[in-house]
Amino acid sequence: MSELHYDIIIIGGGAAGLIAAGTAAEAGASVLILESMKRAGRKLLITGKGRCNITNNSDIQNYMKQIFPLAKFCRPMFSRFFVSDILQLLHRLDVPTIEERGRRIFPESQKSMDVVTALVKWVEKAGVTIKYDRRVKQIIQNKGIITGVALDTGAVFNCNKVILATGGRSYPATGSTGDGFRMVRELGHKVNTTLPALVPLETEGGLAESMMGLSLRNVQATLWADHKKIRSMFGEMLFTHYGLSGPIILDLSRDAVIALRENKIVEITIDHKPALDDQKLDARLLRELDFHGRSKLKSMLKNLLPMKMLYPFCDYVKCDPEKFCNQVSGAERKRMLSGLKEMRFTVTGNTGWNDAIITSGGIELKEINPSTMESKVISGLYFAGEVLDLDAATGGYNLQIAWSSGYVAGISAAQLSTE
Ligand SMILES: Cc1cc2nc3c(=O)[nH]c(=O)nc-3n(C[C@H](O)[C@H](O)[C@H](O)COP(=O)(O)OP(=O)(O)OC[C@H]3O[C@@H](n4cnc5c(N)ncnc54)[C@H](O)[C@@H]3O)c2cc1C
Repeated sequence: MSELHYDIIIIGGGAAGLIAAGTAAEAGASVLILESMKRAGRKLLITGKGRCNITNNSDIQNYMKQIFPLAKFCRPMFSRFFVSDILQLLHRLDVPTIEERGRRIFPESQKSMDVVTALVKWVEKAGVTIKYDRRVKQIIQNKGIITGVALDTGAVFNCNKVILATGGRSYPATGSTGDGFRMVRELGHKVNTTLPALVPLETEGGLAESMMGLSLRNVQATLWADHKKIRSMFGEMLFTHYGLSGPIILDLSRDAVIALRENKIVEITIDHKPALDDQKLDARLLRELDFHGRSKLKSMLKNLLPMKMLYPFCDYVKCDPEKFCNQVSGAERKRMLSGLKEMRFTVTGNTGWNDAIITSGGIELKEINPSTMESKVISGLYFAGEVLDLDAATGGYNLQIAWSSGYVAGISAAQLSTE
């Protein structure tokens, strides 16, 4: 059974697919989006805790530091469609935006729904047909040239070009179940190992659990693999019943998950007083112990740590919280110093795809033309969004990759289709 013929079929109506569709249709192409869910942009709806961190208003040099594993692949797409372009488009669609801490951009309404609604209306107005509840199973090609796609029902749609925008494997309940990876493998494309990234980490022992619910600000977390320092992040984190979470832990998780997969010993140390070096902190401890000589250690520690941490900390550094400060030995003080500067957690795993904000790994970039997003393996096949082997830190960078690659795939596919 074969249905109508389109210039371009876009598989997936998420962030990347919607931008690709609107761009291609405005450039004159006939466009069909096939979306497996009942609505478009399900993942977009939950971004930024329902507020949608649309992008990050920093410069390209900063972007190059936030994207992995090959940021330079993004240079051509960013030179064609970057932060100001997505903001201009959203402003044209009556979605005003505001900038918050860390140059993060959100819709002024603080509602991701406004971004999704505006984009869907835009693509429909541009003439794009969206068919929901249609799960694509296969991309059809003949002698290396795209001819159409087939659904899991057996229905076939014909086209000249396909843009694959099926997302990654994170939060599969939003529709991104990793189908795209299977489809392109069948066409001979290389797909690099996909792993959860920006994901909470599980730790062993009960230390994190004993501080469950406690969030810390202005701390420094350092990731170690086989006792070698990998990276440090400064900012906010959270203790949970399974281990560690919060922004700086999520940003370290990509490397932690990869190191675990390589069977390395993975540890995270927390520096609770990053503004003080060992010497200064030791002097402070000495002063505090001296000043509080006839008080219990637990009262003195209230000046240095949050309440919820007092007993777990004393347990960790093996110091009796009921002891008087003037009875604390030099060795105990050294242990407290080390606990404050390097509280150590052994990472045993991550909480998995249902909690991962992004997928690391994906379609091998060497097989894609970065100026057009077209496959170098199959003519007429384009890629956009999380399906690519690109991922980034938190802060709006991942959506900017989806917008930029979506735009370039859309405009390139449309130009070739309408020539
Ligand atoms: C909880 C959470 C919060 C996030 N917050 C932010 C944030 O604030 N800022 C930021 O920059 N990034 C954020 N991200 C990441 C961001 O959401 C992704 O980078 C982005 O959605 C990727 O866009 P995409 O279009 O490539 O994929 P998706 O948005 O996942 O869209 C893919 C679409 O393809 C469809 N599809 C899949 N397979 C098929 C098939 N076989 N047939 C038809 N359709 C199919 C899916 O149903 C889906 O609609 C967040 C992610 C999560 C999970």
